[in-house]
Amino acid sequence: RAKERGGGVYEVFDDGMRERALRRLETENSLRRALLHDEFVLHYQPQVRMVTGAITGVEALVRWNHPERGLVSPAEFITSAEETGLITTLGAWVLEEACRQSAAWSAARPGHPPITVSVNLSARQIAHPDLVATVAATIERTGVDPATLCFEVTETAVTDDHDRAASVLHQLKALGLTLAIDDFGTGYSSLRALQRFPFDAVKIDRSFVRGIETSEQEAAIVAAIVSLSHALGLRTVAEGIEDVRQVQRLRGLGCDTAQGYFFARPAAPEALAELLGVTPG
Ligand code: C2E
Ligand code: MG
Ligand code: MG
Ligand code: MG
Repeated sequence: RAKERGGGVYEVFDDGMRERALRRLETENSLRRALLHDEFVLHYQPQVRMVTGAITGVEALVRWNHPERGLVSPAEFITSAEETGLITTLGAWVLEEACRQSAAWSAARPGHPPITVSVNLSARQIAHPDLVATVAATIERTGVDPATLCFEVTETAVTDDHDRAASVLHQLKALGLTLAIDDFGTGYSSLRALQRFPFDAVKIDRSFVRGIETSEQEAAIVAAIVSLSHALGLRTVAEGIEDVRQVQRLRGLGCDTAQGYFFARPAAPEALAELLGVTPG
């Protein structure tokens, strides 16, 4: 059909491609510079036990502390980092930083139950042949207790080569850490993913939580996810809880853990230390 519209179409298409390639190169360069200048920071968002409100863990979420733009959200750079392959370097930095922070919090809270630190893993990281060795080395170097480390993986991050992905996830688990399936229910074969991969926890996507008070249908889906997860021996974490009615509803459905703005927004480690009762100094 493009042909019928004449030769000009091809030129426009070429310009668009050139522009995209240029923009991609620009983004790649600025991400590279940001890594070099140590401009990334981790914020942490608490995950709380639904029944008691006690903090059981935190999710590490990366931000780009840009010299001019301020804190830039991962929505604006994770895709580029994946496309350019820089996610491997960025992901290794995130892991190292999260493990150091976790070990520091554990050391600062003797006698307290440990806090699980969850780290997001992207498809590109899982596909990288060095991932398992990198994770093992990072655990060793930082002295973090691997039992307090959890990787969050979306279903789409493991759809490319199922057998390879399954093998990688099993090798990661053999290091003593746990795995959660992120944004559960948004993919095409979420149930198959639960069966195929060795997950320990299910993170119920925010889109289901959002409708839980207003839509019986959404509530039924969440109820089904919780009971299915429990039947398979998996913990459940509800994402994106913004008000108390959602908490009450999810508690009624037997959901184990909650994460969302209602409890706490992602925050710098100093703010978390206060929530965790870690005395400064
Ligand atoms: P995610 O892993 O599903 O993380 C949850 C996102 O939901 C976070 O957005 C969090 O700030 C946001 N959120 C939490 N509670 C609420 C709530 O009550 N309401 C609303 N509207 N949002 C809430 P954030 O930090 O912007 O991260 C977005 C995505 O970027 C993450 O989604 C994850 O896929 C990706 N990401 C973040 N950090 C990393 C990282 O270190 N590595 C990789 N590979 N991806 C990351
Ligand atoms: Mg996540
Ligand atoms: Mg999520
Ligand atoms: Mg998400």
